[in-house]
Amino acid sequence: MRAGQRHGACGARQLAAALVLLATTLAAASAWACGEGVHLKRPVELSEAERSAIVARAPLTVLALQAPPMTRRDADAAQGYSGVGMDAWCFIARQVGLHYRVEADRGDTVAQKIARVQAGQADALLSLSPEPQRAARGLFTLPYFESNYAVIGRKSARLLIHGMSDLAQLRVGLVKGVAFEPVLQAFMPPEQLVLFDQNDSRGLFAALREGAVDVAVYPKAIFAEKRYELEYFDLEVVHTLRNLPRRYGFYFSPSTDNELLVRVFDRYLQAMDLSDSINLHEDAEQQFIERYVAQRSQRTYWRAGAVLAGLLAIVFFVVLRRYRYLMRQLAERNQRILQQQRVLAASHRRLQQLSQTDGLTGLTNRREFDHALAREHERRSRSGAPLSVIMMDIDHFKCVNDHYGHAVGDDYLRAVARVLRQSVLRPADIAARYGGEEFVCLLPDTGAQEARQVAERIRENLRTLQLPNASAPRPVLTLSFGIATLIDGPAGAAQLLERADAELYAAKRAGRDRVHGSELRA
Ligand code: GH3
Ligand code: MG
Ligand code: MG
Repeated sequence: MRAGQRHGACGARQLAAALVLLATTLAAASAWACGEGVHLKRPVELSEAERSAIVARAPLTVLALQAPPMTRRDADAAQGYSGVGMDAWCFIARQVGLHYRVEADRGDTVAQKIARVQAGQADALLSLSPEPQRAARGLFTLPYFESNYAVIGRKSARLLIHGMSDLAQLRVGLVKGVAFEPVLQAFMPPEQLVLFDQNDSRGLFAALREGAVDVAVYPKAIFAEKRYELEYFDLEVVHTLRNLPRRYGFYFSPSTDNELLVRVFDRYLQAMDLSDSINLHEDAEQQFIERYVAQRSQRTYWRAGAVLAGLLAIVFFVVLRRYRYLMRQLAERNQRILQQQRVLAASHRRLQQLSQTDGLTGLTNRREFDHALAREHERRSRSGAPLSVIMMDIDHFKCVNDHYGHAVGDDYLRAVARVLRQSVLRPADIAARYGGEEFVCLLPDTGAQEARQVAERIRENLRTLQLPNASAPRPVLTLSFGIATLIDGPAGAAQLLERADAELYAAKRAGRDRVHGSELRA
C-alpha cells in the first residue's frame, strides 16, 4: 500500500487499522535492542590476534547520518540512533569485542561528517553509499543494505510514469552529486534537469510543490519519513526506480587498524542475515504515522484549547464591556433621575409656597391661614393655652385708591405687609392677608393682653411710616384692629374669627385707628 493512498478520503480509518495491526511491530522497533533482527547464516572465523587487536583499541568515535532505515535518530535507543545499520554494527561489535561510542548529533552536514571521518577526527560513519570519490579517501565495508530511488510528484498532477524514459518529457529535480545525476544527464535535456544543494532537500520539495519542477528523484525510504515530518501530504511516490539501487555500507577513516576492522566486518557482513532487521525498520513509515497522528492530535487539542480560551476571552471582554456600558448608562440615568427629582422637589416646594402665599404682599394667604388656625385651635384644645386672633382692616382705603390710584394702593398694601412682618416677632405667629385690605394675625399661646400689645405695636409701626391718605378724614394711613382671645370653652375656630371680626367692626364704629378685643370663655 502506498503512503499516498493511506491518506485518501477514508484515510483516517485505514490509518487507525494500520496502527492497530502494526502496534506489536512498532513497540518492538521503538524498544530497540543491540543486534536485534540479526542472525549469522554460518559461523565466522576470527583469529586470536585479530580479536586481541580489536579489543585493545580505544573506543571508536562513530558518527551517524539521519538516513532511515539504515540509521535514524531515536531518543529511545541507547546509542541515540536505531536502524538496520545500527543493528548490524552493534551485532558485529559485540561479536568481536569492539568498543565504540556513537557521537550525539551536533547538527553537522553530511559533507562535514564525511570530512571529519576522512581527516581521522572520527573513526567511522554509519551509513554511506560507496561513491568513488569517497572510497578514494576512506575505507568502505561491503554494502549491507540497498535502497531505491523514487520519482516523486504532486498528487494533483496525476502523472503516469512507467519507467525512467518517461522522465525525458518532464522537468526533474535532483539533489546534486548523487549516483543518479549522471544517469539522468545521459538522456535528459540539460535545461529540464534542476539540481538542488545536497543539504537542501526542503528546497527540492518546495520547488516540486510550487510546480517549478514536475517530479523529484529522491531516495524512497528517506522521502517516506520526511513526508510525515514536514507534512508534505500533497506529494506522493509515483514510480520506484529499481534500475540503480543505492548500496550502503560502513565508512571508516583510512588507517591500518581500520583496514583490519573492515576485513573483519566484511567477513561478518557476508555471513549475516539482516532480513528481520530490514523488515522491522522499513516499517518506519508506520512508526512515523503513529508519531505524526499523536503529535497532530496533541496539536489539535492545543489549538482547540487556544481557540476556546481565545473565544472565552472575547466573550468575557464583550460581556465586561457590555456590563460596564450598562453600569455607566445606569449611573447616568440615576443621576438624571436624581436631578429630575431635585427639580421636581424644588418646583413642588415653589408650588406649595405659591399656593400658600399671597401674590401681592408675599404674606400667607387666606386658605393657608385657615389651615393654620384649624391646626392651632386643635392643638390649643389639648394644651389649654390661650389662642389669639387679630383682624385688621385699613381705614378708608378706598380713598387711597381713589386719590392716588390702584398702583399706590398696592404699594400701601405691601407696606402694611412689611409692618406686619416687622411687628409679629415669634416664629409660631402667622401674619396673613385675609382679603382686599384686610389682614389677620394668628398668635398661639398668646393671651388677650399680649395680643393687644402686638396690635398696638403694629399700629405704632404703621403710624411711624406716615403714609398719606389725603382724601380721608384723617390724612394718614391707619388700621383698625379687632382681637379675639380663646381662653377656654367649646368655641370653634370660626367663632373665634367671627368674634375678632365683630371686635374690628366695633373698632370701626368707635372711630377707627384703634384696637378692640375680648376673650372667649366657657
Ligand atoms: P373702611 O374704613 O370702612 O374700611 O373704608 P374702606 O374704604 O377701607 O372700605 P371699603 O370696603 O369701602 O373699601 C375697600 C377698598 O379696598 C375697596 C377696594 O377697591 C380696595 N381694595 C381691595 N383690595 C385691593 C387691592 O388689592 N389693591 C388695591 N389697590 N385696592 C384694593
Ligand atoms: Mg374692608
Ligand atoms: Mg377698609
